[in-house]
Amino acid sequence: MSMNSEGRVTRPENTASAAAPATFTGNRGLMLEEQLIFERDDYGRTGVDLPKAPLVANLLGGLERHRPIGLPGLPEPETVRHYTRLSRQNYAIDLGLFPLGSCTMKHNPRLNEKVARMPGFADLHPLAPVDTVQGALGVIHELGEWLKTLTGMSGVAMAPKAGAHGELCGLLAIRAAQEARGNAREVILVPESAHGTNPATAAFCNYRVENIPATADGRVDLAALEARLGPDVAGVMITNPNTCGLFERDMQRISDAVHAAGGLVYCDGANFNAIVGRVRPGDLGIDAMHINLHKTFSTPHGGGGPGSGPVVFSAALAPFAPLPFVDKQGDDYVLVEEETAGEHHGASFGRMAAFHGQMGMFTRALAYILSHGADGLRQVAEDAVLNANYVLRSLDDVLDAPFGASGPCMHEALFSDAGLAQGFTTLDIAKGLIDEGFHPMTMYFPLVVHGAMLVEPTETEGKATLDQFIGALRSVAERAKAGDAALKAAPALAPRRRLDETAAARKPVLVWKDADLPEAAE
Ligand SMILES: *Cc1c(COP(=O)(O)O)cnc(C)c1O
Repeated sequence: MSMNSEGRVTRPENTASAAAPATFTGNRGLMLEEQLIFERDDYGRTGVDLPKAPLVANLLGGLERHRPIGLPGLPEPETVRHYTRLSRQNYAIDLGLFPLGSCTMKHNPRLNEKVARMPGFADLHPLAPVDTVQGALGVIHELGEWLKTLTGMSGVAMAPKAGAHGELCGLLAIRAAQEARGNAREVILVPESAHGTNPATAAFCNYRVENIPATADGRVDLAALEARLGPDVAGVMITNPNTCGLFERDMQRISDAVHAAGGLVYCDGANFNAIVGRVRPGDLGIDAMHINLHKTFSTPHGGGGPGSGPVVFSAALAPFAPLPFVDKQGDDYVLVEEETAGEHHGASFGRMAAFHGQMGMFTRALAYILSHGADGLRQVAEDAVLNANYVLRSLDDVLDAPFGASGPCMHEALFSDAGLAQGFTTLDIAKGLIDEGFHPMTMYFPLVVHGAMLVEPTETEGKATLDQFIGALRSVAERAKAGDAALKAAPALAPRRRLDETAAARKPVLVWKDADLPEAAE
């Protein structure tokens, strides 16, 4: 998409190729060439027929609108078709394998959706009297109990609304605990193999972030960590399994060393799907860990979809957990809104959200947990790890696997751009995958690896799908190694060619400017 000198958006002239000649409409097969809604000349029309509004000028005190606002007017059928057509140009987990590493894009069982849509859950109001919402509070409580059991931890906060929000919750608890000991301390240590949200969270909590290097095998350098510990270190944030797709085997020793130096241990548990049912983080000395319900326990996410990041706490940190929380007293569920001395949350740092968290995610996650059962959850982790290792070992002869010698990977396989032909990059491989009908893997992350490609197949893919993906990635990788010039132009078969992603991010065209429109449109 580009703008000509009059500011009008023009179509890229690349929808035709030798294989598929131009058509009269620009449509190809049943894929329709779609104009943006702002490009359509529909400004004078409207999709509704309302009676003329009474004169309210005096009531609005001069705030009334004198000119049209410059939004196109489409009748309902055309609006529905516009967005349905756009959705067909999108990719989704319901269309095929979605190998974004660290994101856990796995199938969302429809049973979860059915439960979440039950009116007793879906139509709740957060201010409904407690005695009318006992079932909903029961769901929150039971899910919290499952999370504590699965992680071997003593406290839980259900309110955080995403993984990064959970990190914030955990670090606020760590800060409160350190302050209660008399000194909040200044530094949070974050290893290179941590997720990018970790240093951001620590900085947001007013901590200075210091990096701990990774060893050659992709894990935390324990000696470097021990050497840096001291009275100014409030705690560490460790992603486990880490973003190289590896399990931090020294976790227990790391926790012991941090505790001995008066620090606390935060674990980024967003990748819990790799170890659920196999490892209890509480046994490894962890003080706080968030769990991404939308990843491990499969709720629709991505593209801004809702998330949920409950945090589990050790006995040492549980008193500082946020309010409110759901407690069970006899047969009743109660909402504890204030600190109760001696109990969990007894020295709460405050609130994370206005209400109780993402109810729709809770119902889905509990449905997922109950339908799998303890044995099913363990198998989730085993299959996720098996699938990732199948991808890793099926491709490590054609793609560089920087930590291939570090033992089996966990739920994701990491490759690098080493060995591609001169001038060919990870981006070329990602674009080539689009022509093959696959969403690209996570690119250029983690940063410890040059030109990283992080592939997370998840446990919900069967062998036939994995083999097809492996074949596609192998074919694209071979083209990149052979220096196939056509790959530099990929995607050739998608609705759009290679876009200027930097300009799209830095100079987004969010308002349609048309010389014909009234000035008020801007
Ligand atoms: C996804 C992820 C996060 C962030 O979770 P959000 O819900 O997107 O905020 C943090 N850490 C790791 C390791 C992740 O994979």
